[in-house]
Amino acid sequence: MTPLAAELADDVLERLLRYVRIDTQSKAGVATSPSTEKQLDLSRLLRDELEEIGLDDVRLDEHGYVYGSLEGAESAPAIGLIAHVDTSPDVTGTGVDPQVHRGYDGGRIELRGDTSVVLDPEELPLLKGKVGHDLVTTDGTTLLGADDKAGVAEIMAAVAYLKRNPGVPHAPIRVCFTVDEEVAGGAEHLDLERFGAKFAYTLDGAAPGEIEAETFNAAKVVVTIRGRSTHTGTAKGQLVNAIKLAADFVASLPRDSLSPETTEEREGFVHPTKISGGAEETSVELIVRDHDLAKMAEHVELLRRLAAEVRERDPRASVDVVEEDQYRNMYEVISRHPEVIEAADEAVRRVGLEPVHTIIRGGTDGARLSARGLPTPNLFTGGSEYHSRREWASVQDMAAAAATIVELARVWA
Ligand SMILES: [Zn+2]
Repeated sequence: MTPLAAELADDVLERLLRYVRIDTQSKAGVATSPSTEKQLDLSRLLRDELEEIGLDDVRLDEHGYVYGSLEGAESAPAIGLIAHVDTSPDVTGTGVDPQVHRGYDGGRIELRGDTSVVLDPEELPLLKGKVGHDLVTTDGTTLLGADDKAGVAEIMAAVAYLKRNPGVPHAPIRVCFTVDEEVAGGAEHLDLERFGAKFAYTLDGAAPGEIEAETFNAAKVVVTIRGRSTHTGTAKGQLVNAIKLAADFVASLPRDSLSPETTEEREGFVHPTKISGGAEETSVELIVRDHDLAKMAEHVELLRRLAAEVRERDPRASVDVVEEDQYRNMYEVISRHPEVIEAADEAVRRVGLEPVHTIIRGGTDGARLSARGLPTPNLFTGGSEYHSRREWASVQDMAAAAATIVELARVWA
């Protein structure tokens, strides 16, 4: 650890332990923002803490977003720092009881609330490398919420440090804590004009040194098959069962390739997420992902072709394919501002780490913000095994992330 990271470690840990105890689980399919009232419990606390630290223009807006700003060198551009307060709907976030394991010995960690949940270094290669670190885990009954409360804690600790040390030259900083990132509503209501940053960084990544500037392109496709339902007693030659045609369609999807369970790195996929309906009408919902936009269009084309084949099988059926854009690979925007990545590289090096450029097999708030004109790569937080009861975070890595933020603000000054 650098002296700066060592100085920030206790503050980051204390904040993480305080924030994860607050249940902020978001909910999919809710039209209001925030999707759950309880996210505001953390938003309110963060507003109060930002005020206590002494940031300017601190406010909590009607959607649960918390803003604050810290003035800095006038010649430098304002940089945004963003993290989300909500946790995944996948695993409960009620009653999180974080456990701190000092000086990890490299062995299996049994969690005391549910001893069937074990962190086994043989299964978790990242954990294997953390011998000697102080680790934070769950008690085995909930997720931890380091995604993204580690990011929140790191931003808070970094701005508190800069405020405490007015002698450290740094760029002006704009902080925003968002809601509903886990249910794809994240950053939608971020008021870019009032935010006032030229570019931003989300603190929502994982392994130390990681800088992510590439996401998937993403679309949703709904294939609706309409059959013809009749009384089954007199159905001969009449009935066209939409369920059977939908099953044919699903069976025709590629399996050994183009599926999340058989692809990695830069390979895209089509993935059925939901099937619903009856004999008269059945819908299959799919998501389509690829880092390459042209390839994603090909995958959508494949789905149209397979859907058309179903219809050819029984021309009395009708098949309808609707495509909806979800988000774009943010590299398209970020690559036009290489200095945003270069500054992150330099900041990471200053905390004694090697920058690692990884691609995201998913989206981030940054993808949506980049599409709206605010280039926003994603930085590491030091957490791991997100959205699970085996989620854990390293105090040393979180401290390095907080130090990276401070260094980033200095690089830009
Ligand atoms: Zn996250």
